[in-house]
Order: sequence, then structure tokens, then C-alpha cells
Amino acid sequence: MAQLSDDCFAFGGQLMSVDQAAALIAERVSPVTDAEAVPLHAARGRVLTAPLLAPGPLPPFFNSAVDGYAFAHAGGGEMRLPLAGRVAAGRPAAPLAPGTAMRIFTGAPMPAGADTVMMQEDAALDGQTLLLPAGLKRGANCRPAGEDVAMGAQALAAGTRLGPAEIGLAAALGLAALGCTRLLRVGVFSTGDELAAPGSALAPAQTYDSNRFTLLALLAGLPVQATDLGILPDEPTATADALARAAAGHDLLLTSGGVSTGEEDHVRAAIEGAGSLVFWRLAVKPGRPAAMGVVAGTPVLGLPGNPVAAVVCFLHLARPLILRLAGAAPETLPRFPAIADFGHRKKLGRREYLRVRLRRDGTQLLAEKFGREGAGLLTSLTETQAFCELPEEMVALSPGQAVLVLPFIGLF
Ligand code: AMP
Ligand code: MG
Repeated sequence: MAQLSDDCFAFGGQLMSVDQAAALIAERVSPVTDAEAVPLHAARGRVLTAPLLAPGPLPPFFNSAVDGYAFAHAGGGEMRLPLAGRVAAGRPAAPLAPGTAMRIFTGAPMPAGADTVMMQEDAALDGQTLLLPAGLKRGANCRPAGEDVAMGAQALAAGTRLGPAEIGLAAALGLAALGCTRLLRVGVFSTGDELAAPGSALAPAQTYDSNRFTLLALLAGLPVQATDLGILPDEPTATADALARAAAGHDLLLTSGGVSTGEEDHVRAAIEGAGSLVFWRLAVKPGRPAAMGVVAGTPVLGLPGNPVAAVVCFLHLARPLILRLAGAAPETLPRFPAIADFGHRKKLGRREYLRVRLRRDGTQLLAEKFGREGAGLLTSLTETQAFCELPEEMVALSPGQAVLVLPFIGLF
């Protein structure tokens, strides 16, 4: 469990910058070391614990890259070679008789003595004789053994997050399972007396709990086994008790709501009551009230209640924390250059994430701000495609200015 030291990292009452929070997580959270063999079909999103060294060369043997004619290169001049023999994929090749060419198909082994293939689309035949024009390069249209990965070479580094390409590479090397960090147990609470579970009837003054479902969906893309821990009341003792109980069975706890400065916000005090606070309040909009703590050695992230703020803080705190726990190589959120199609003023010293629509203008990306403000607007996420990141030092953005955008497609 406990990968986080119990001391308070930095808590001076100051707002912490997003980068400082990320640095604290990187410094103080140690990866889980338990590994397990994961079959390839279940490996998507999992993190490799050790480098994958190629047990054999890839491709495993010298083979043709096209359908055509294999022959022995003889300096590149024009040649006439009688056809002798044929080799298809999956069949052994007889040696090439000197002074002949052999019919060959994509993926078939090169016959001994051949080093070059003429593509069938480019080949001219005179009956059973191949007419080779001058100028074909030695080694054209064939694939040497190990040209992709040499035997013994590192195919994937430790800490790699496995996606379709990595899984395909492991399969091509003949592996059916890979050593990965075990799934992290992440528990998700919502907090708030006003919250009702979707599917139930809404009582007066109630609103449906959406964050729990957003967070569980965000976790689905990570190497996590998530537990839905339901809704906590706005009550300090119940909250502290629930955190203490859940800490024992989880590698990370996430809460949302109840972490602001209001009298009904009890999460920060509950973290302090059940464990210790690491930081509280980030210099980010939306997302300012976020808190992090440790309860019985288990990290706890108190995400803000406003749905957009919860997402922003998930991406900047929960995601890196989970990747760190899982032993993944550090990665930053993907940012792309765009041109602002709007003007905006902001507070110095605070990072802002605006929701923007993306439009292509030639080879440029234009970012257009969502029309309404508010970290509670769920449609500001469904009707846009990216966050536009405005850095701490910026105070005014003018239309036409270069910005960085974080497309949801790379985040969610
Ligand atoms: P709080 O920080 O608890 O005051 O929450 C800020 C706002 O977010 C309030 O309007 C809450 O009703 C709302 N909120 C908190 N938690 C959730 C949730 N799980 N789903 C949807 N809205 C929430
Ligand atoms: Mg609340």
C-alpha cells in the first residue's frame, strides 16, 4: 500500500502551482512493485515492469516484402533470367539455381543465393524469362531478419504503457503475456448532501451525482481496478471514518466536492483527522480547492465538486499519481499549438483552462472559446474538443495569439 511518506510536503497556506503539485507527486510517491503476467488480450493500458528484450529477431528470417521475383543482384545492369521455382509465404524456399529468378510472394523466405526482389507490378516477362531493367538496388523489396528488432535488443522499455502498437510488437516477438504492475486499487467517493444517484428520483434540493461517473470513466483508461464507494454525507466524522476504512484496501482514494472553504466542506478536515494533509489549494482555474493528503499511507486526492474542476484536477493530479504508482515512465499531457480566435483576461499567477472548440484553418488549428463561463457547466466539456491552457504569467490574451491546447482525445 503506502507509497507516500506521511510527512506534509508543503503547506504554507499559499496556493500551490500545478507544476509544484506534480513535482511533489513525482518526488514522494513510489511505484507499486508487485508484478504479474498479463495476457496480451488484457494488456491494454498496463505498465511493463521490466524491459522487453527480443527473444529472437524480428522479422525472424530474411523474406520478401512484395509479390515478385527473387534473384541474385549482379551489379545493377540489365539482365534476362529464366524463371525456376516458386516460393509462397509459409513454405520453405529451395536454393536459387545460379543464373535464374524465382517467383516469390510477400512474406515468403528468400531462397538461399537470392538477395533482391523485383516487384511483380514492375516486372516484364518474355515467356518464362524475367527481363530485369538496369538500376534496381541490391536488397530492394526484401526484409532482412532482425531489421525491425535485432535479437536481444530492447523492444520496449520498463515503464512503457502498453497500447495497441506495443501489444502487437510483443505478439510479433512471440510473447503471449507480459510482466506488468498489478492493477492499482482506486476508490472513488462523491461527497455532498445534495447528491442523488442517477436512476433514483430527485428529492427537492437534490442534484444528480455526475462526478463519480466521470471519474470512474476517466479511470477506465488507466491501469486501475476502480471501486465505486458511493456518496458521503457532508459530515466530518462520517467522512474521516469512511476515508480511514477505505484507505486499508486501496492504493489511492479520490473524492470530489466538499473541499472548499465553506462550513459544509469537510473533506480537508477529514483528511487531516484521519491522516495528514500534503497540500491544499492549487493556483488553477477551474480547480482551486483541490487537496491531497495521506491516510494510513494511502494517498487521498480531494478533487473539487464542480464537474469541470474535478476533471481538470483529475488530469493534473490523479492521472500522474496513478501513472507514478503504476511505475509508468513520466509523461506530460499532450499539448498542441493553436491560434486563439478570442480574447480573454485572466489573473496573474494562476493557470487557466478554458474549454474550446477546435477548427482547422489550412494547416492551422483555431481555438474558439465556449460561450459561457462556469466550472459547473457539463456541456462546456461535451460541446468542445479541448482545453486551452493559459499559463500563470499571462494576464491578457488577444485574438490571433498563439496558445497551447490539450485535445480531449489525448486526455480522456
Ligand atoms: P462543493 O465543493 O462540495 O461545494 O461543490 C461545488 C459544486 O459542485 C456544488 O454545486 C455541488 O453541488 C457540485 N457537486 C459536488 N459534487 C458533485 C458531484 N459528485 N456531481 C455533480 N456535482 C457535484
Ligand atoms: Mg459539497
